Amino acid sequence: MSALGTVVKAVCDSATMVAETATPQEPIAMDSSAPRSPENTPFEGISFDNSYARLPEMFHARMPPVPVAGPSLIRLNESLAESLGLDPDALASSEGVQMLAGNRPAAGADPVAMAYAGHQFGNFVPQLGDGRALLLGEVVDPAGVRRDIHLKGAGATPFSRGGDGRSSIGPVVREYLACEAMAALGIPTTRALAAIATGETVMRRQPEPGGILVRVAQSHVRIGTFEYFARRGDVESVRRLADYVIDRHYPELADSDRRYQGLFEAVIERTAELVARWMLVGFVHGVMNTDNTSLVGETIDYGPFGFIDAFDPTTCYSSIDRNGRYAWNRQPGIAQWNLARLGECLLGFFADREEPAIEQANALLEQFPACYQRHFNAGLVAKLGIAEPREGDAELGVDLLERMHANSADFTLTFRGLGQLDPDDAGGDGPVRELFDDPAAFDEWAARWRARLAAEARDAADRKAAMRVVNPAIILRNHLAQQAVDAAIEDLDFGPMHRLHEALARPFEDLPADSEYARPPRPEERVTETFCGT
Ligand code: AMP
Ligand code: MG
Repeated sequence: MSALGTVVKAVCDSATMVAETATPQEPIAMDSSAPRSPENTPFEGISFDNSYARLPEMFHARMPPVPVAGPSLIRLNESLAESLGLDPDALASSEGVQMLAGNRPAAGADPVAMAYAGHQFGNFVPQLGDGRALLLGEVVDPAGVRRDIHLKGAGATPFSRGGDGRSSIGPVVREYLACEAMAALGIPTTRALAAIATGETVMRRQPEPGGILVRVAQSHVRIGTFEYFARRGDVESVRRLADYVIDRHYPELADSDRRYQGLFEAVIERTAELVARWMLVGFVHGVMNTDNTSLVGETIDYGPFGFIDAFDPTTCYSSIDRNGRYAWNRQPGIAQWNLARLGECLLGFFADREEPAIEQANALLEQFPACYQRHFNAGLVAKLGIAEPREGDAELGVDLLERMHANSADFTLTFRGLGQLDPDDAGGDGPVRELFDDPAAFDEWAARWRARLAAEARDAADRKAAMRVVNPAIILRNHLAQQAVDAAIEDLDFGPMHRLHEALARPFEDLPADSEYARPPRPEERVTETFCGT
């Protein structure tokens, strides 16, 4: 059996057989006898349909959001609202903001805190769940795509485990900026529909203003959702969940007689592509626990994430990740490890006997490295401006990355700059070679790169245009996110957030060389640690 097989088998033996000891949460009923006032008259601006809330009680705890003292709108994502078929003006109205803050019921909503478990830093936690979030309901957009509307920071739930169920405004601003930056880069992600200030204070290291992020996702089902039921030995709920995910997200598998293998394979493929896309923009997720790994290949849960400035493959920002488990270069391996945990949950549906089931799971899991590498190599070669990839091209890209690492070259500026160089004349290489501690390290590489480009028919203007749309000028640099967060927390000043968002929305546009959004941090601005988003 392969090494992976050993992983699957070992965890399978010790885990799925463990008897469940945690008490399932009692769902909390919504109080329908509350008197009607303008504040609790349902807001009619959204039409919800709630397939997840219709799943059995074990899947969630039903409860309304906990109202907040004085909600106000920080930012509404008007274009996202429109694409969902929602009216931005209605959402921005005082009734709309009350609804988004959880103060006013939304017509047709059936809010639930979702149950899930998860492996956190490799250790299994049998019960996590939405401790500070609620799935308000689902909306079906004009194209027929169903999406979750989710309030993060909506108050304590039965899954809060002693937490306050709230969020500081800082993580709300950070997640808003991050997911919208990723979306603008074309990377699958949850989205931000709105950021709300609650008018309340939350206690963190110091008192901070509270916030709510209204998040939109194709799905909030995570690998940890499967683990929640699998570890309880609740095979029927695992099947129910898998069927739900297939019906909602992978309907092409519905009639397959290998539907569960198909589901596993599809999630492997989407996750491999997603992680490759992260790697190609220098993104470090920071907390790739299985409860933060989506079943639809979307980036989810922006906590201690970061985009790399000076390239170092071992970059890891999370203040609690002492061993660098979730460093940039470990992300593909961790994704595969997480997928192995999903495979364990599904084993029983692959075959009647354990051995062939494990064999099938491993055979699918072993596709991950090649699938990941295919996406990564194709993306890397495109970043170099090569139109017709051939043997050795990916190695050329990796050689550049190694030189960037050895010379502390800025990840984003190196690739962006490369796309602006003249393929026939090294005379104008200054802006890129100066990013390297030893510019000669770039010169040697650039000579080979030019020789390679010379073997292609593509004309220079086409190449430049193609490189522009794969090598962003702007990513969410940590120090910029920090400046926006500091202004929000200290002064309730959202100007820096708004301005930064405008820039992040157009990451491939050329900027003036002195743009504050494109340049790397000065030594005193450098942010080397980021924190879990509470
Ligand atoms: P995260 O780090 O955001 O993925 O969260 C991990 C777990 O901790 C999830 O179950 C969250 O719901 C829970 N959690 C995080 N912050 C809070 C909070 N302030 N109150 C209650 N639960 C929280
Ligand atoms: Mg999470």
